[in-house]
Amino acid sequence: MIPTVKEFLSTVPEGQNVMVKGWVRTKRQTKSATFVEVNDGSSMTNMQCVFDQESSGSEAEALEKATTGASVAVEGILIASPGSGQKAEVKAKSLRVIGEAPPDTYPLQKKAHSLEFLREISHLRPRTNTFGAIARVRNRMAFAVHQFFQERGFFYVHTPLITASDAEGAGAMFQVTTLDLERVAKTGIVDYDKDFFGKPSFLTVSGQLNVETYCEALGRVYTFGPTFRAENSNTTRHLSEFWMIEPEIAFAELEDNITLAKDFIQYLVKTALADCAEDLAFFDARIQPGLVASLSKVVSDSFSRMTYTEAVAELEKHKAEFEFEPYWGCDLQSEHEKFLTEKVVGGPLVVTDYPKEIKAFYMKQNPDEKTVAAMDVLVPRFGEIIGGSEREWRLDLLEKRIEELGLNKDNYWWYLDLRRFGSTPHAGFGLGFERLLLYVTGMTNIRDVIPFPRAPRLADF
Ligand code: ATP
Ligand code: MN
Repeated sequence: MIPTVKEFLSTVPEGQNVMVKGWVRTKRQTKSATFVEVNDGSSMTNMQCVFDQESSGSEAEALEKATTGASVAVEGILIASPGSGQKAEVKAKSLRVIGEAPPDTYPLQKKAHSLEFLREISHLRPRTNTFGAIARVRNRMAFAVHQFFQERGFFYVHTPLITASDAEGAGAMFQVTTLDLERVAKTGIVDYDKDFFGKPSFLTVSGQLNVETYCEALGRVYTFGPTFRAENSNTTRHLSEFWMIEPEIAFAELEDNITLAKDFIQYLVKTALADCAEDLAFFDARIQPGLVASLSKVVSDSFSRMTYTEAVAELEKHKAEFEFEPYWGCDLQSEHEKFLTEKVVGGPLVVTDYPKEIKAFYMKQNPDEKTVAAMDVLVPRFGEIIGGSEREWRLDLLEKRIEELGLNKDNYWWYLDLRRFGSTPHAGFGLGFERLLLYVTGMTNIRDVIPFPRAPRLADF
């Protein structure tokens, strides 16, 4: 492996011989020289390779073919740049075009392309500044997730993707089957005995129920993996396949959970500011003006707090401004969440104690018998980023809730066992990884922060 451009740029240029391999971003010709900007993906910064004008026949030919998108190898010497745009540049001695990118067919030419257009070429969009930056931030954030938990004594648990239980009614599920649907349609009979697992099976909507089992043995655990939701919500905040981080802590209550969630978000944002500064500066300049300042504020400020009841009272004062009328018992809409975070508190907001009817069966019931010990973290621009709760750890109350909701108790036998044997108060939450990336990058459509988005009717695969 040869050093990357990022590595070259971190050294002091003093005439050392270097070899740069990457993709041509732009080529510019002046009277005295040709400037080829080469990007190798290691960072946003290109290596400027300068060819003087006396280039001979074969080199002139190579320069001709080094058009935007072509892959090239440049040999030369690394010198301090006389120009103002960059610290160092390569005074090029030779150029080799490895793979051409004919200008009449290569889709990514110099001009700026719309995000919509780029979504149609998800195999090429990582070669743009925007998507390169997103990929680097995504990588750093994934690593930071593990760092945060590992530094705090949490164990990473791999929870299954295929499940038989409708985990929590969190969203519609994709069924996993080997039954021949056309045959089923013809015979009119579904025989699950003949299905692969011998019963209806689905892709998981959350790893939580499974991770709780390890929580009640290892104490502090988390899972980080793909989850699937077949909800037909064509929004800029929902994907059919997304990644979720779900910590779960034993001997813990709602307050511990809220503290963990706040520390976690602040750690991630701080890491992004420190280690992805160049990419964030780009997002700030091109995508979301003020991004870096607002993220810096998130790191130092405490998160605002409100109960659901207080939040609804606040929203009811501004009824006229909403499409969906707020009332006690309603599920908070994204417009409500945005209003609370942007207009009322001006930053992240933790809302607690939601009505039990709009939350999952496993959340711990409060003494008022109307609400549960739930906590959502809401942020400006799109609303919910985290959903969590203290779990109902008392067997009788959990069984009663399952019955009330008409769920099949047999499906939850192992989950109930956790309450039968050595039960403990415990709590956890789910952070949507792509929502975090929207937050950190300032991008506005969730389809742009995952390499290959899966959404209803989006068939580029
Ligand atoms: P929302 O109300 O925004 O649809 P939710 O209440 O269904 O979210 P939870 O079941 O609490 O979400 O899931 C935990 C977290 O997973 C959410 O806070 C969010 O960050 C993320 N999330 C949920 N659904 C999706 C989705 N379809 N695409 C991407 N992220 C999601
Ligand atoms: Mn939620």
